[in-house]
Amino acid sequence: MKIYNTFTKTKEDFQPINPPNVTMYMCGPTVYNYFHIGNARSFVMADIVRRYLEFKGFNVKFIMNITDVDDNIIKKANEEKKSTTDVASFYTEAFFEDVKRLKIKTASVYPKATLHISEMIEVIKELEKKGFAYNVNGNVFYDVSKFSSYGKLSGKNTEDLESGARVDVNEEKKNPLDFALWKKVKESEPSWDSPWGKGRPGWHIECSAMSIKHLGKSIDIHAGGNDLIFPHHENEIAQSEACFEQKFVKYWLHFGFLNIQNEKMSKSLGNFFTAREVLDKYSAEAIRLFFAQTNYGGPLNFSDELLNSAQKGYEKILNLAEKIEREINLNTRSEIIPDFDVKKYYSDFEKVMDDDFNSPQAAAVIFDFIRAANKIIAENNNIDSIFYQGLKQFLKNTAENVLGIIHFGDLANALNPNIDNEQIEMLIKKRDIAKKEKNFALADQIRTELSNLGVILQDSKTGTTFKKIILK
Ligand SMILES: [Zn+2]
Repeated sequence: MKIYNTFTKTKEDFQPINPPNVTMYMCGPTVYNYFHIGNARSFVMADIVRRYLEFKGFNVKFIMNITDVDDNIIKKANEEKKSTTDVASFYTEAFFEDVKRLKIKTASVYPKATLHISEMIEVIKELEKKGFAYNVNGNVFYDVSKFSSYGKLSGKNTEDLESGARVDVNEEKKNPLDFALWKKVKESEPSWDSPWGKGRPGWHIECSAMSIKHLGKSIDIHAGGNDLIFPHHENEIAQSEACFEQKFVKYWLHFGFLNIQNEKMSKSLGNFFTAREVLDKYSAEAIRLFFAQTNYGGPLNFSDELLNSAQKGYEKILNLAEKIEREINLNTRSEIIPDFDVKKYYSDFEKVMDDDFNSPQAAAVIFDFIRAANKIIAENNNIDSIFYQGLKQFLKNTAENVLGIIHFGDLANALNPNIDNEQIEMLIKKRDIAKKEKNFALADQIRTELSNLGVILQDSKTGTTFKKIILK
């Protein structure tokens, strides 16, 4: 299996530190608003990566942090005249709702920054002891000049960075690139006791402290949006490696930007969409398919046209899945078991996903499979239901469990028979008459039509009864 490592800028063989375990850390949301569709792309693609590793038999521990103390949260709380705790817990709830609606698998742990303050203080103390941090009147900064390989992830060198740095007017810092590890309390801000006085942690230290706590000093995969490479991930490396003196991350994985109609998404341009706005218009499966159809690392253009086309793609999968469920419920036994090389599709799927999670190609394999299956179904009558079991297994293992673009468990609603009992009884009578008149073609047609609506007929000596399928 190959994975593109931002750190080396090459595709590398994937060899986790402690197989079959894989540790994966994804930078999570700062909870001061609803997350937008660009964030949703990163979250869904990280989910697909994680699910594929599980498909390969790895035991993945997946951590996503919640930043619940931050400048933006404080600002929002002041604007809305609420407490920071209220703002953070409101948007944390909203985050979980949206993640669930996007059918993203729950992380092993969602650590909250405010519950890891003592761990952060320990890391800062260690950095200070080793000479990488300095305290100026209760503000503690990381001394970038002490970490000789600073810039190794982003490929930036400190001299260029210093000359181009957007210098905060902060005369306490020795160097414009130095960043805050601990911020001295300001009036009406949340704060915690520390060896440097009351204050709160900087953003970057959260991820270093929480990944160490939940995944250990060295982790296999650290993921996040492209925009986090610098300075966030660069600073995480500087903190963790200075503190623990070992390699922090084996593979760095970064997700590309999402543009709206070829423009950068921004509130001022009026082209800013939250994930929940998009989820009100399109199904989660269609949105996931739309994301999966572009390589995770490249830019992605978002438009209603493209979403509509993904929705149509999803309906193709759904149509076949519904057909499969009906046929499995009918449980037909017959000699007709068409030759269908499902193994070939498994191996194609695995081959492309093994190549740095090539999800666009993986989706293409699934659509090839659907075309081939539909052709066989159209060309054969009375196929044994074992054939449909094989189709279902493939779609469950790939389209459902890895890409999350179909959910068989949800089909019950989609398939609830949309026909009332009176109409069914009427059709049964019509079919009885047809059978008496030896018009078996019509009788079969009625049976098939009902079956397509989720109504199964059962003939016996005393007459015909029916059942509505509740699919699960
Ligand atoms: Zn982070």
